[in-house]
Amino acid sequence: MAISGLYIDGAWREADREFEVTNPASGEVIATVSDGNQAHAEYAIQAASAAFKSWSQSTAYARAAILNKAYGLMLERKEELANLMTREQGKPLKAANNEVQYAADFLRWFAEEAVRNYGETIPSARADQRFIVRHEPVGVVAAITPWNYPISMLTRKLAPALAAGCTVVLKPAEATPLCAIEVFKILIEAGVPKGVINLVTFSKPKPIGEVFCSHPAIRKITFTGSTAVGKKLAQDAAPYLKRVSMELGGHAPFIVFDDADPVHAAKGASLVKFLNTGQACISPNRIFVQRKMLDPFIETLAQRIASMRTGNGLDPSNSIGPLVNQAAVSKVANQVDDALSKGAELVTGGHALNDGEFAGGHFYAPTLLNKVTEDMLIYREETFGPIAAVIPFDDQDEVIEKANDTHYGLAAYIYTQNLSRAMRTFEALNFGIVGINDINPTSAAAPFGGMKESGLGREGAREGMAEYLETKLGGFSV
Ligand code: ADP
Repeated sequence: MAISGLYIDGAWREADREFEVTNPASGEVIATVSDGNQAHAEYAIQAASAAFKSWSQSTAYARAAILNKAYGLMLERKEELANLMTREQGKPLKAANNEVQYAADFLRWFAEEAVRNYGETIPSARADQRFIVRHEPVGVVAAITPWNYPISMLTRKLAPALAAGCTVVLKPAEATPLCAIEVFKILIEAGVPKGVINLVTFSKPKPIGEVFCSHPAIRKITFTGSTAVGKKLAQDAAPYLKRVSMELGGHAPFIVFDDADPVHAAKGASLVKFLNTGQACISPNRIFVQRKMLDPFIETLAQRIASMRTGNGLDPSNSIGPLVNQAAVSKVANQVDDALSKGAELVTGGHALNDGEFAGGHFYAPTLLNKVTEDMLIYREETFGPIAAVIPFDDQDEVIEKANDTHYGLAAYIYTQNLSRAMRTFEALNFGIVGINDINPTSAAAPFGGMKESGLGREGAREGMAEYLETKLGGFSV
């Protein structure tokens, strides 16, 4: 019997069809989930529309109380959620636990923000006039989320939307519906009323995207995923002038200057590059190392890679899990083969892992490439896999120009001990998030989002709630 992933108008619904969810570490089917259709999406939108009036008029304190309760429940269930995430998505248990904490943080942060949705009074040039500004929820929100962070990407959208007073229809990625179902169970148990949140699981996302973009009741689309799909959704939503928030791909530069500590920098690079097996939009795709630092940096990074064990994330001795599917393995292999054919140096890795404990899973060995050049695919294409690509450079202006030479603009990293160089480089990089001697510049309290083709809008922080609010001006003649 399929697990229902269709939570519509306050009840779990059935569908005629179902789809399988597999463990990427073994290929084993771990569940079957109901496969909705366009009619389910329309039903969910109607339910969210009907619930909007009462939810948007509830007090911010009532909404905050529900989000705080959900925060507590998520932490109580941290271990079981992490275990499910590892089986469904593949990341090692420790990383899965960290993600659940990060996901819960959004619930608490936006519970706190809900009650600080302040307005303004503005002085008028007319003695008989008063201006008042208030911020109102935008309406019904359609949310589409990815598989790589299958719990935190949901709360990063649901928590601010609910805090603002919006109602939501959410479509999770087809690879990770089980995590989404558990997040919904928590929100339901925390007291979110009927119709306010609706979950719709589908094996084929395209027709559902079309309903979301064209349905008149949807006032906002919030999406995290690839740049190609984000552009398509933004185009489809444009004729209706729906608001859009887009968290899309990245191609992060990681710059190591010659005054940095090469060991510290290589340690940082190994931690952030191999996080979630490289399947993160903030993953460093081009590691620029100033020539004087090259040898000690490569040596330390190679040593650290040698100490990482790849395998099923349920085994605590493994720190690198599988890729999401075989297509991801092929993409990574293609980038590595292309780089090697054009003269890159293979320091370690460079092959898929298929036999023995890896059989049935989607594994690729953590890989270090040196002397990567601009003509290689990996220099331009997002990798989304465990490949560290090192590019030697000579001077500061050159590296800033190279780092900015991409249509992406999400995350960048700088390693230097020179304060003015850190500040100048920070200012010169066209990226929405810059880590300076820091590989984790993310938090529920900090604005996350990209410039250029990495997206529109920000998530987390005050900005994250503003995405779900309209500004209304009142001009009073008195
Ligand atoms: P990835 O390539 O990393 O899987 P996608 O952008 O394809 O990234 O997927 C991110 C989310 O977008 C998933 O929930 C997926 O189902 C959804 N998605 C993919 N294609 C479409 C589409 N044409 N319309 C709506 N949603 C889509």
